Amino acid sequence: MSYGLEGLETRQLEGIVNILNHCTDSFLFVFDFSKDTYFISPFARNLFAFPEEKLENATHELMNIVFPEDQASLRTELDLLKSGKKTEHNLDYRWVNKNGKPVWIRCRGRILPNDDPENRILVGEVAIVTSEDRTDLLTGLATESQLRIDFGSIWTKKQSVSGFILKVDIDNLGAINEQYGVMTGDVIVSKVGDCCRKVCSGTAKAYKLSSDEFICMNLTGKSALVAQKMYENLRREIAEAEHGLGYDIIFTVSGGMVAFMNDASQLDGLLRKVNFSLGTAKRNGRNNLVTFNAVDYTKHLKNLDFQEKIRDSIRNDFSGFELYYQPVVDAKNLYLDSDKTVLNVIGCEALIRWTCPGYGVLNPDEFIPILERTGMIVSVGRWILRTAFMQCAEWNRLQKNFRVSVNLSYIQAKKSDIIRDVETAMLISDVNPRNVTLELTESGYIGNGDELQALTESFANLGVNVDIDDFGTGYSNLRYLQYLKANTLKLDYTFVQKATGGNEGDRKIIKHITQMAHELGMQVCMEGIEEKSDIEKLIAYGPDKFQGFYFGRPCNNVDFREHHLRPDATRDIYKKAK
Ligand code: C2E
Ligand code: MG
Ligand code: MG
Repeated sequence: MSYGLEGLETRQLEGIVNILNHCTDSFLFVFDFSKDTYFISPFARNLFAFPEEKLENATHELMNIVFPEDQASLRTELDLLKSGKKTEHNLDYRWVNKNGKPVWIRCRGRILPNDDPENRILVGEVAIVTSEDRTDLLTGLATESQLRIDFGSIWTKKQSVSGFILKVDIDNLGAINEQYGVMTGDVIVSKVGDCCRKVCSGTAKAYKLSSDEFICMNLTGKSALVAQKMYENLRREIAEAEHGLGYDIIFTVSGGMVAFMNDASQLDGLLRKVNFSLGTAKRNGRNNLVTFNAVDYTKHLKNLDFQEKIRDSIRNDFSGFELYYQPVVDAKNLYLDSDKTVLNVIGCEALIRWTCPGYGVLNPDEFIPILERTGMIVSVGRWILRTAFMQCAEWNRLQKNFRVSVNLSYIQAKKSDIIRDVETAMLISDVNPRNVTLELTESGYIGNGDELQALTESFANLGVNVDIDDFGTGYSNLRYLQYLKANTLKLDYTFVQKATGGNEGDRKIIKHITQMAHELGMQVCMEGIEEKSDIEKLIAYGPDKFQGFYFGRPCNNVDFREHHLRPDATRDIYKKAK
């Protein structure tokens, strides 16, 4: 993330901080790690014995006002920030005031983005944590400030922690507030607070975080099993509370939990894990507990990393995205010459690839779900349409009737004005609409066959072709097929391969589907042809088109042009020679 402050001199940042210091009760600071200088609001000197408002040799000097017990945790934190392992700072610890008494502070900040690893600057604020900040008024439970203090004091002593953090969140509190009013919502929050206090008694400490979140934390080495039991007890207590309220309102809680043994992680790291588990519990349908799973979390972090990198690619004019093309051949007119070169490639399917920094070239299965989840499929989908249509127009100058097929994701169609996007791509590329095909899968449209029908009709009105992709996998609604304005049924490669692999049942189904498609006026493309023998097994069923590794693997446009495109002139010469 950029704050637009890159390139500012430390002195200029200090100037900004100096002005802002007049507008806040906190103390703002600038810590320049490369120069080891620390600049803090002059007001801080009223309470703490800073010799100057700007410290030189700051890492060392700062320790003079840090409470001795907390110096180790601050040093660890600073090391992480200086080495670039952390970019956000959020630590509760103690400074010593001018009377020699420890004062709890919450120090938060961010490293300014900078390409130069030798030039890290932390900018942030120091707020004094008062005793009022440590108790939640509604539930009487300790707050997040207190949680940080409690965790910090154990961590500082041992440089590690053992126990668990169980986080619970009231399901649908927003809806309860809306339906019954905020006062009722507050009653529920307060009841859940009571329940947490009760189930924690003697084993853990209960805290109330923002809005409707609670934490039960144990730092005396209790196991995950104890936490799981605690969640079960909590649900029982909540059932009792509902009974006490005369079942006027039914409410549930979801839970996420992480257990740890001699773990040197800081609180924020553990909270991120517990938040991930709680998020999973919510996604699993709420009213359940999810225990932290490291494998899923690693996958989640990798996805987040991908997400960020995809965003960078999009911002960078889609750098890293590339369309590969796989040949589609005319099955009614197969010319296989001795070196297997097929001379009747009538089109191709555009298949997206993404080169991810640090991971190499990725297949769509690895990133399309991320694009769909984040909505980025809309902009990438537009780019795919434009690129494929322009490629088609270019190749049509060599091979007049050559077709390019483009896959459309259900989410892309749902989240964007897809008709307009297709029209725009047609305008930009000036492609002949008869030469482009949009591939749709039925799976997204379960129960919404009308939607799919309307979409295929709109595309047909634009003059472009529509193919039904992945036919034979998962969901297929035969009844709707007759109403769809589709040109071709594409039989999925997994399905085709089962048939060529000897599955008699699948062969029969393929035979009948092909017959049915023809009777409905549609063509059939069989995907996944890997061997010459596959052609021999399937040709009798009368397919119209073939696609598969046997005819060519997906490749970039340069290779495709070289290996598969046959300019019309060459084709005529070949036909004459035959
Ligand atoms: P699809 O549309 O059914 O594409 C065919 C997939 O089958 C491609 O995988 C292709 O490489 C693979 N394939 C082709 N012939 C053979 C064969 O003989 N044997 C085997 N084992 N596989 C074969 P790919 O490129 O990994 O794409 C996977 C899926 O990702 C596609 O399935 C499509 O649903 C989706 N996809 C690809 N490109 C795009 C795109 O640009 N936009 C959208 N929305 N989805 C795309
Ligand atoms: Mg496809
Ligand atoms: Mg397919």
